[in-house]
Order: sequence, then C-alpha cells, then structure tokens
Amino acid sequence: MSLVVQKYGGTSVGSLDRIRVVAERVADTYRQGHQVVVVVSAMAGETDRLLNMGRELSPRPVEREMDVLVASGEQVSAALLAIQLNEIGVPTRSLLGHQARIVTDAVHQKARIRTIDGPALRSVLETGQVLVVAGFQGTDAYGNITTLGRGGSDTSAVAIAAAVKADVCEICTDVDGVYTTDPSICPNARKIPRISYEEMLELSSLGAKVLQIRSVELAMKHRMPLHVRSSFSNAEGTIVTDEEHLLEKVVVAGVAADKKTVKLTLRALPDHPGVVASVFEPLAEANISVDMIIQNVSKQGHTDLTFTVSREDADRAEAIVENLATSVDAQGVTRDDDVAKVSIVGVGMRNHAGIAARMFRLLADADINIEAISTSEIKTSCLIETEHADRAVVVLHDGFELGKPRDA
Ligand code: ADP
Ligand code: ASP
Ligand code: MG
Repeated sequence: MSLVVQKYGGTSVGSLDRIRVVAERVADTYRQGHQVVVVVSAMAGETDRLLNMGRELSPRPVEREMDVLVASGEQVSAALLAIQLNEIGVPTRSLLGHQARIVTDAVHQKARIRTIDGPALRSVLETGQVLVVAGFQGTDAYGNITTLGRGGSDTSAVAIAAAVKADVCEICTDVDGVYTTDPSICPNARKIPRISYEEMLELSSLGAKVLQIRSVELAMKHRMPLHVRSSFSNAEGTIVTDEEHLLEKVVVAGVAADKKTVKLTLRALPDHPGVVASVFEPLAEANISVDMIIQNVSKQGHTDLTFTVSREDADRAEAIVENLATSVDAQGVTRDDDVAKVSIVGVGMRNHAGIAARMFRLLADADINIEAISTSEIKTSCLIETEHADRAVVVLHDGFELGKPRDA
C-alpha cells in the first residue's frame, strides 16, 4: 500500500462528465488498496470568470476580497468530486484549505504555504476515507483566506504530499507529460520521460505553465518525486526527479516562452553608487520580482536602466519607478508591453560551450532581433518582440533538434 497525492487541473474537472471520469480514476487507485489525497483546481475558466467579475466592479479590487472570491472556485470542484466519489461507493470527505489546516503567509493572491497539519490528514486517511482538498487556497495566521497565485493548486498538491509524506505526487493534467516545449505551439514537441528538478524549475519560471514554479521548488526541497501525466489515460508521463536519476544529461532539454513580461526603462539615471539600489529596494519591498536587468554604459554621468517584470506586477512596478524617477533625478520611465522572453534550458549546458551563440545565430537567421539576454548555468534567455515568440520557439526547437527521438 502506498500513499498517493493526485492533483487534477481545471480542464480535468471542467464538466460533470469529466468529474465522473476523474472519480473513476481515483476509485481505481483507492480500490488497489492505496491511500489517496486528491487536490483539485477550479473548473476550467472559473478562476478567470471570478477575477473578471471582481475587476469589473473595481479597477484595483481589494486583494483580500479577491481571495475570498476566487477561492470559491476550488470549493465547488472539491465538493462535486466528493459527491461523485461517495456516489460510486468511495467514502470521501472534502476539505477546504483551512480545514486541511493549510496556513500561509498574509500576501494575498500570491501567498506562500507555511505549515500543513500532515498528521491530522493522515489520521483521516487511516479511517479508510479518501480526502479531496481544495487546491490554491489556505488561510493566514488570522484566518483570512489567501490564494497561492495562478496555477497554485500544483503547489497545494506538492505541499500536502510533503506534509503527509506521500510516496508520489501525481500532477494529472490535459497533456500527458512535460514536453520539450509547449505542444500547443510546436506540433513536433516530444514528451520528456525524465527531467531534473533544476531543469523543470527553469522551464516553469521561463513560461512553461504545466507546473507552477513554487510546486517545483517545494518538490526539490522535499525530494518529492513528481509524476506529470494525463488525466485521461494511464500512460506513463514525465518523472521530475533528482539529476542523479536521469539516464542522460541532454544539452538542451526544452524551450519555453513567456509572453507575460513587461520591460521598464528608467531613462538618463545619474550614474553613481546607491542609485541602482534605490530603484530596486522599493520594488523588493512591494514583493515585485525583477527578472532581466540591463544597465547601459554611462554617458556623461548618466545611464539607462532597463528591467523586466511580470505583467501582473507591471502596473505597480511602473507606478513605483515613476515616483522614483523624480527623486533620483532620472529623465523619465518608458514601458514596453510588447516583449516576450524565449529560453533554452538543459543541465548539459554546464559543460558545453557555444550553446548560447548557437541560439543567437538561430534567432538571427530567422530575422528576430534580441533586445536583452540573461544566462545562468543551465539556461539562456532572450527578450524579443512578442509577435515573434511562437516562431522563435519553433525555430529553437527545430534548431536544437528537440523533435527527434533521443536515440535516433
Ligand atoms: P492544469 O489546468 O491541469 O493545471 P495547465 O493549463 O495549468 O493545466 O498546464 C497544462 C498546459 O501547459 C498544457 O495544456 C500546455 O499547453 C502547457 N504547457 C506549456 N509548456 C509545456 C511543456 N513544456 N510541456 C507540457 N505542457 C506545457
Ligand atoms: N484555479 C487556479 C488558477 O486557475 C489554481 C489552479 O488551477 O492551479 O490559477
Ligand atoms: Mg496549472
């Protein structure tokens, strides 16, 4: 007997028929003698529908109330799945975030999980019941409802898996694994049988939304194996695991594109010690993550400072730097929403020279201009115009021959 956490995404629970199919899968696992915790997302489209209603009433809705609003999506799907499981003879109890004692920090809309009462969940499992936990939500220390950011049910699942010491955490979704790139953009993308936590972390943070980045961080921290697989078939999916467990270390494992990025430039900033810190400190205080940063060569004691942030944070970031522009004596702020970041990722890049150069050549041959570059040991990212993003993904995917079976 093992303890399995299965997470089902929005498309997988998008209708009553799909919920019936999911219930059958859960029942199969349960009847094989395993203990099962199911984590569910809201039904497909529901989170967007709720967010849009809130935003229709207010251009800057109170974040606390937005969390109360969007958390309701997962409440509905958890209850529906529990009703159906009981209907087919599987004793099941649904739990909302606070009932599973998922305690988070107080950062509404992108809260981080602090603790989960694993032993309490285990003791319910010991009674032979299946648990269906509403994903994406928790409560802060004062009982306020919080949510974990878009795609946050992945993180709920991994955190619960770690808390109950599950044997495996299965992420059941509408694709049958992690692909070399988004299969909806590149038709010859290939399923990757095994990928390291580190590579997956990069792919997630670079735009592959198949796993929320925090879920990968947590899985890596707890060494929790993830199995990303289809909700609709029993085929083996992708195992996300330690690098030592990979059969081979490919140079480029995958390509990702992030179209939700915005470029901000502070123009003609005085170039002396402390100025850059005074720009980024208030952004950090506002919980805004800054991604690429470029500071131009100084001309007559002035320099341009360009950086990128996620679209979600862009309005707040722009307001902060506009305010700052006057106090640090810069000329002004320019904003460009028309940018996307394309990236290649692979642990094998550590030991191979020339991979970045090849990426730049492939983009150049496709007449795609590079506006900024950032690198780490295992990835290279280029900022380009949004309209070229999908084409760049295909060009890089083909150029690095990712569509070919690896043993060919
Ligand atoms: P869920 O609702 O199950 O959480 P998501 O829509 O969040 O599912 O994530 C699955 C989607 O992620 C896929 O349908 C696919 O379009 C997209 N995706 C992006 N990059 C990748 C990738 N490298 N491999 C697999 N899927 C990817
Ligand atoms: N329902 C939330 C969202 O759409 C959380 C999730 O699906 O993981 O972002
Ligand atoms: Mg998701």
